[in-house]
Amino acid sequence: MSDLAPLIVVSGPSGVGKSTVVAEVLRRDPSIWLSVSATTRSPRPGEANGEHYFFMSNEEFDALVATGGLLEWAQYAGNRYGTPRAAVSQHRADGRLVLLEIEVQGARQVRSSVPDATLVFLAPPSAATLEDRLRNRGTEEESVVAARLEVATAELAAAGEFDLVLVNAEVDQCAQDLLDFISRGAG
Ligand code: 5GP
Repeated sequence: MSDLAPLIVVSGPSGVGKSTVVAEVLRRDPSIWLSVSATTRSPRPGEANGEHYFFMSNEEFDALVATGGLLEWAQYAGNRYGTPRAAVSQHRADGRLVLLEIEVQGARQVRSSVPDATLVFLAPPSAATLEDRLRNRGTEEESVVAARLEVATAELAAAGEFDLVLVNAEVDQCAQDLLDFISRGAG
C-alpha cells in the first residue's frame, strides 16, 4: 500500500471551465495543492511566471523532457505543456492531496505511469455551450479558437476513459461534487 496522499487529475476539453472549477475547489479546501505546469506558450495578460505556469523556451522544455523531469507532457494547439515530476512527488509524500489540471493526452499518460491516480473528466452541458465559452473568452484570435474547438471535439469522446465524469453546468455545484468525491476517498 502506498502512503502517499492522493493524486487527482482533472481533465476535459479546453473551454469546459476546468480552471474555474479547480480555483473554486482550492478556495473551499486550501489543503489541496495544485501543480504548476511548464509551458512553451506565451503568458496571457495577468499570468505570472511560477504561479499560473512556468513559462519557458522550447530549449528549456526540451531539457526538462530529456532529464525525465516531467511526469507527463503533451503538445496542445501549437504549444507544449507538462507537469514537473518532483513537486508532485514531494507534495504527495508530505501528505497533501495533489491536483493536476491537464488536457486529455496528459491524463492518459498519468493513467499508465501512476496507477493509483484518479482521473476526473469535466464535461460541458452541451457541445454548443463549449463553443460559446471558447469564443467568449476573447483572449485568442479566431485561428486559435478554431484549433482549440477541433481538439475539444476529439477530447469530448474520451470521457469514457475516466473514473468520474462531472458535468460543469454550474461552477459551485461542480466544485462541490468534486470535493464530495474526494472526501469519499478518491485515490
Ligand atoms: P491554456 O493554454 O488554456 O492555459 O491550456 C491549454 C490546455 O493545456 C488546457 O486544456 C490545460 O488544461 C492544458 N494543460 C495545462 N497544463 C498542462 C500540463 O502540464 N500537461 C498537459 N498535458 N496539459 C496541460
